[in-house]
Amino acid sequence: MTPVGWVDTHAHLDDESLRGDLAGVLDRARAAGVVQVVAVGTTADDSEAMARLAGDRAGIFAAVGIHPNHAAEARPGDWERIVSLVGSKKVVALGETGLDRYRQNTPFDVQQESFARHLALAEERGLPVVIHCRQSERDLIAQMTRLARPVRGVLHSFTGTQDDAEAFLDLGLHLSFAGMITFTNKTLDALRTVAARVPLNRLLVETDSPYLSPHPHRGRPNEPARVALTAARLAEIRGMSAPELARATTANARGLFGLPDDETL
Ligand SMILES: [Zn+2]
Repeated sequence: MTPVGWVDTHAHLDDESLRGDLAGVLDRARAAGVVQVVAVGTTADDSEAMARLAGDRAGIFAAVGIHPNHAAEARPGDWERIVSLVGSKKVVALGETGLDRYRQNTPFDVQQESFARHLALAEERGLPVVIHCRQSERDLIAQMTRLARPVRGVLHSFTGTQDDAEAFLDLGLHLSFAGMITFTNKTLDALRTVAARVPLNRLLVETDSPYLSPHPHRGRPNEPARVALTAARLAEIRGMSAPELARATTANARGLFGLPDDETL
């Protein structure tokens, strides 16, 4: 039986730190046991690039959307470009969308309007959403609660509290963890406790490459191969073996994004 392997559910493969050596990045990912990557767009331009890359390469799938931090700079026609990517081969999600109170470059009401548009299109086209959250847990929960329906998708790189986690799970979302759970800061023990308690069938792993490199690579550009380090720490936190966690999180990723199990890197 072939090993299950990891799905890196969130990587910005169009970032310049990864794009230049993509063959090397994917070789190292394969060697680390990564079988599939969801390549996530943040603008109309890089969403198109991600959809193209997914079309060209086995094992790569695309999420297309406009990140809340880029929503204000979007040009007329950019949203229509996102809409027209939906339905392309291997576009498996809408996003990255969400809310961000940490960076001020997009007015908050513009972010909320953009998030609402992504949610509506995702619902209409039957795709999951990839949700970014920075200091906006309560705002996201309020906006999605007003929809009065479950939301299929993932709260990516989750860093909130146990209460936030429960609210997102109640809304129907999966929770994905990135490198922060490997950082040695004592203050992150609370996040590790939350990660230990997420129901196994709602749990995902990711790198958020090129950001959030796990320990001991913190501060250097991240890449999909390192999802194995984050996942190993998550397995340890949860008292399970890495292969058990791989089986569960990979099945979750395939279920949520509709990834085929026979197309790998
Ligand atoms: Zn991201």
